[in-house]
Amino acid sequence: MSSLSLFFSFFTFLFFLSFSAFSQSPLNRPSNIGLGVFVDFIDAEYEMNFSQITGAEEGEKQYEINVVSSVMLNQLEDGYILFDLNQDIQEVKIDGVVTNITQVKTPNHGRYVSQFHQVSTLTDKGSHTLEVKSKMQIWTKNFGLWLNDWADREMLELYVVSNLQYDQYPMTFSFNDKDFFKDNYVFTNGTEVEDEDSIIAQFPEFSNASSVFLHLVPSENLTGLYETTYSTLDGREMNVTLYSDNQSYSSSEELEEIYKKRVVPAVKDLEETWGPWPHESLVLVFDQCGRSMEHSGAARICRYAAIEHELTHSYWGRSIFPADGNSSWFDEGIATWIDHSRIMEVRSSYIDTDLSNNGEYFRATNQSSYTSGARFLIQVGYLLNAEEQVEKTNNALMTKCMKSFYDKYAFKTMTSQNILDHIVTDCSDGTKAEEIRNLFTQYIF
Ligand SMILES: [Zn+2]
Repeated sequence: MSSLSLFFSFFTFLFFLSFSAFSQSPLNRPSNIGLGVFVDFIDAEYEMNFSQITGAEEGEKQYEINVVSSVMLNQLEDGYILFDLNQDIQEVKIDGVVTNITQVKTPNHGRYVSQFHQVSTLTDKGSHTLEVKSKMQIWTKNFGLWLNDWADREMLELYVVSNLQYDQYPMTFSFNDKDFFKDNYVFTNGTEVEDEDSIIAQFPEFSNASSVFLHLVPSENLTGLYETTYSTLDGREMNVTLYSDNQSYSSSEELEEIYKKRVVPAVKDLEETWGPWPHESLVLVFDQCGRSMEHSGAARICRYAAIEHELTHSYWGRSIFPADGNSSWFDEGIATWIDHSRIMEVRSSYIDTDLSNNGEYFRATNQSSYTSGARFLIQVGYLLNAEEQVEKTNNALMTKCMKSFYDKYAFKTMTSQNILDHIVTDCSDGTKAEEIRNLFTQYIF
């Protein structure tokens, strides 16, 4: 290798180091045709073409949506590209040439099975384009990208070609054509782009499979809307939107009251502890749904009791992102701990074990993460505070430890190992390192 190519290799290396958490991807997978490789998405455009198949009296309609996902990617070694899309795939092209795919199933510890797709064409290390046409049919009143992190393969891969959670890249969604949605309100945590033909929303570089919020509501289905601005701790006038798309939920007046009594105090409290609101805006939909869900600077709220918890996730989980299903116990654990005012109690309570041991390809949060994750963090807090009587007091030391972790990983993806390393190196004196590692081995890994 010449010194010039060494020079360029070094910068290629730096490029990947700074824009991708590629080291957090699962291991590449050997297959009968060769090595299946995880790749680094650089940019993605998702085009969605709607047509209505049928309607029902109560307003729900059946749509067919033809989707084209166009991805620019970087491949770090020769092999067969791996990606996911949990829909009916019509056609796959690599660098403009049609190819086949095979479905890869991943049994893990005999407990969980996940899946993704492997392209059948061998590609070299370097830049490539991946284009996938797919089709889905849904019944809905109001189309939204409803992402779900408590079941496997139900994040962005439920709608478009997605990389696993470790990857962050800018995305653009286009809904064609605009006439089809002419009476719709568009609610998003992205940026809407003016266009004559399509509804276009762009999402920033830190976006991943769990961050996007995009919801279209026909005006006749909008039952409440409250728009205002909030002055953030760092002096921005941030747009805030609360809305409701269900009769049984809040009117505009109720939304205003919820904003003043619940949302403002919660956001102020979060800003005082963790820093200025980390997102461009705040969007909350009050909806008839099973479980509330967090996005980056947005949330779907199914019951009022969830408001504060989902707002917390705009820092923990959707500003810092879990890199995989094995790391997502942490954001539910810390959000539950914050729900309880970061109080130190439940010292002797039962903690579920193996919170981070669901198999490396499985993409869902362990259901024990909420209380067991919180109790685990409290347990670590006790260890850090061993000499002091801290029972039932707000744990300042643990809060400081988590704040410095937040500052280090904001807008990045992180793993359970990153939390362990941070606590050992930044929050404890050397004498406790072994005990902290043992706690992680016992309950997390
Ligand atoms: Zn949560």
